[in-house]
Amino acid sequence: MLLQAGVDCFRLNFSHGLREDHARRLNAIRAAEQKIGRPVGVFADLQGPKIRVGTFADGQITLKYNDIVTIEASDAPGEAGIIRLPHAELVRVLDAGDVLKLDDGKMQLTVLERSGDRLKARVDFGGVLKNQKGVNVPTRRIPISALTDKDREDAAFALELGVDYLALSFVQHPDDVKEARALAGDRSGIIAKIEKPSALAEIDQIVDVADAVMVARGDLGVELPPEQVPIAQRKIIRSARAAGRPVIVATHMLESMVDAPTPTRAEASDVATAVYQGADAVMLSAESAVGRHPQSAVAIMDRIIRAVEDDAEYWASLPRDMTPPQATTADAIALSARNIADVIGCAAVVAFTATGSTAYRVARERPRCGVIGLTPVVATARRLTLAWGTRAKVTDDIASVEEMVERADAAVRALGVAGPGDRVAIIAGIPFGRAGKTNTIRVLRLE
Ligand code: PEP
Repeated sequence: MLLQAGVDCFRLNFSHGLREDHARRLNAIRAAEQKIGRPVGVFADLQGPKIRVGTFADGQITLKYNDIVTIEASDAPGEAGIIRLPHAELVRVLDAGDVLKLDDGKMQLTVLERSGDRLKARVDFGGVLKNQKGVNVPTRRIPISALTDKDREDAAFALELGVDYLALSFVQHPDDVKEARALAGDRSGIIAKIEKPSALAEIDQIVDVADAVMVARGDLGVELPPEQVPIAQRKIIRSARAAGRPVIVATHMLESMVDAPTPTRAEASDVATAVYQGADAVMLSAESAVGRHPQSAVAIMDRIIRAVEDDAEYWASLPRDMTPPQATTADAIALSARNIADVIGCAAVVAFTATGSTAYRVARERPRCGVIGLTPVVATARRLTLAWGTRAKVTDDIASVEEMVERADAAVRALGVAGPGDRVAIIAGIPFGRAGKTNTIRVLRLE
């Protein structure tokens, strides 16, 4: 049902649920993928180093405006006026002026001074702080790897299940992505979730080493003041688009649909804005995970995307935000294929691709007719579900120009994107079977 409503890619959120639940869901997705007959992507979202306060002797303490509290690193329960953090490495780097946001930003402390291993902090805005609530420190790069022991175990489990991407939470530095890549090898792509100001400072370098990025507005909105979130979103989308990496805009997109059957006007506008800005994908969270109207939320999101794509202003504005291609043969071919498709009104640009790279380069150019990625690799077809305007299909390997034309012809007919008299631009690498050699464009008119 969710697939029929428009889902291309699912997230398994390893911050919640048991591993058996994720395995069960993945099996259900793969069974549904068979039935619907198109590739479906799945990514495992790893919890990451979510910092939490410890417990309290009474389960909670009350923080009042201007109170002075002590913060110390310890596993022991806290008490009135004392917050204990089971993260010695964090407490060690904090100093006067650092800000701690508690429980998704509902409460805030500012560190006033350090004396030995302890910190004194002032309550900027208070509330009731319960056991193990989250802590965000927007003022610091935290000296913690983006992969905890739990993440490593979850990642091994998810890779064994056969997910298409691992999503890495609280990425702060390109090295975090490289660490995950070393773990995953070529078994999955890596999505860098951008939710820390320190990641924004190095966004181009992070995008460069990731396969895709996510504007993770939930935590980003805790770490940044609200007025900075839209600016960060735009910056991340631009960086990803320039590099040709898929970018997902996530969290609170249709939040009111957790209960309500329709979204607010502001939510519809938020989804549309992400699409106008050039996002490859928009994501639902609670709306589909625990909401009352998961299928409607997907269908409405799908309608909003289609409505924007029907607007001439969308197509006029996309090139304005575009950066020049890289000086590579693959990019020159991708850009030329887009131009050919626009000039002669092709029904599709068909990209033969083993790793997906050629299709991503074409998607980066945003050809109005969309991209068909043809690949012999099932995992590549599934990963391409995140790429803008791209439909992927698994085909046999090709060994000659005749086979290339035959496969492209059959695929566009099977997908219903082209029929007799239509033209498609085909791009591929000759000689065939060698990755990274895209060098050929062929225009095909269907008989
Ligand atoms: C987010 O913070 O926006 C996000 C997508 O991550 P999570 O759902 O894990 O909080």
